[in-house]
Amino acid sequence: MSESLSTDILIVGGGVAGLWLNARMRRLGYSTVLVDKGVLGGGQSIKSQGIIHGGTKYALSGALTGASEAIADMPRRWREALEGNGELDLSGVRLLSDAHYLWSPGTLTGNLTSFFASKAVRSRVGQVKGNELPPALQDPRFKGKVYRLSELVLDVPSLIERLAELGGPGLLKAERVEPLQENGELTGLMVDARPINAQRIVLTAGAGNAELLNGLNLGQPAMQKRPLHMVIVKAPTLKPLYAHCLGGGSKPRITVTSHPSADGEWVWYLGGDLAEASGVARDEAAQITAAKKELAELVPWIDLTTAKWATLRIDRAEPAQSALARPDNAFLAEQGRLLVGWPTKLALSPDFADRVEAALTRDGIEPQSHQPLPELPRPAITGPFWEGLV
Ligand code: FAD
Repeated sequence: MSESLSTDILIVGGGVAGLWLNARMRRLGYSTVLVDKGVLGGGQSIKSQGIIHGGTKYALSGALTGASEAIADMPRRWREALEGNGELDLSGVRLLSDAHYLWSPGTLTGNLTSFFASKAVRSRVGQVKGNELPPALQDPRFKGKVYRLSELVLDVPSLIERLAELGGPGLLKAERVEPLQENGELTGLMVDARPINAQRIVLTAGAGNAELLNGLNLGQPAMQKRPLHMVIVKAPTLKPLYAHCLGGGSKPRITVTSHPSADGEWVWYLGGDLAEASGVARDEAAQITAAKKELAELVPWIDLTTAKWATLRIDRAEPAQSALARPDNAFLAEQGRLLVGWPTKLALSPDFADRVEAALTRDGIEPQSHQPLPELPRPAITGPFWEGLV
């Protein structure tokens, strides 16, 4: 057995939720250890589209209830962090776009009327035209309307790298996590046969939370997985585009984000309805055919004859809920010393950390003094996943 350790907050899972929480806790003076069995950010986080939503797109289905949702405040909080004067200093993180756009390719007035009926939306949206349009849409053949949303898009690899820098000496690569108990009570975790005692244990392992809970003999909180089948396309003709393209329904027909590749070309990452249920049912070839058809209809002026295509299957991990509805707040459940949760969106990581902090304050958990940590095996950091695919 390795030397035992003690810390204030022991976090399992180094995606954006765990890394953000770890950095916030350290800033508040708590000592932390964060355990990951893979690479930091290598789960859902790196495969996200990096959009810091303010919730605007939910107005399409009338689901945006305004300021009561934590998500409405996320763009401001992230912007402050990126400027170096927020709750974390993310000043080196690359901002891919200062805005996300809503793009209506035809005359979907019905849809847009209900959208603009929302007061919460009117204050956050402005129409753009001509040379204010996103570069990929600046073509004489472009018809339709484009609205600028007050939302950001981040380069996730640089975000993960920065959060790992803020992670301190307690980032630990380990395979096995088991309960550590005293008199039948959970006091910490056995991590690769090393006992780690902690005042609080937080599970932020994304899709791994279910298995960890199982190992602790806990059935709750239940988790759901929402499968997605994303499309990646790389071509020298692609210019940046960050937009939800509206279809007839309440969900974007396609959501496009653009990511830089090492050779200077742009990679488009396509989600939205294309990647949901019917996209999940398609095999890779059929999904690429569907994406080609969408882009031929929506941006026919972009020559994609030399484009490289790939798809990516990935599950979103969330707390279980009826009809797979998407929550707009982070989720945290508590059982004694154990806290378990999902941010439900990368953008909601600050809200997740707020919830943990509120629980610590309520329980009077203060930073304590601990032995300095020995040198620990550090997990590697993820890189741009698209480089290996297209
Ligand atoms: P993860 O990023 O999945 O990290 C979990 C970590 O836990 C991993 O590093 C893993 O190695 C580790 N782990 C797992 N099991 C164990 C174990 N047993 N022991 C130790 N470590 C373990 N959100 C947005 O806000 N904006 C977007 O544009 C957006 N786009 C998305 C697009 C896609 C295709 C997907 C799938 C999601 C998207 N999301 C988006 C949601 C967002 O990615 C997730 O909500 C967020 O990244 C979840 O972060 P996490 O830290 O909880 O989990």
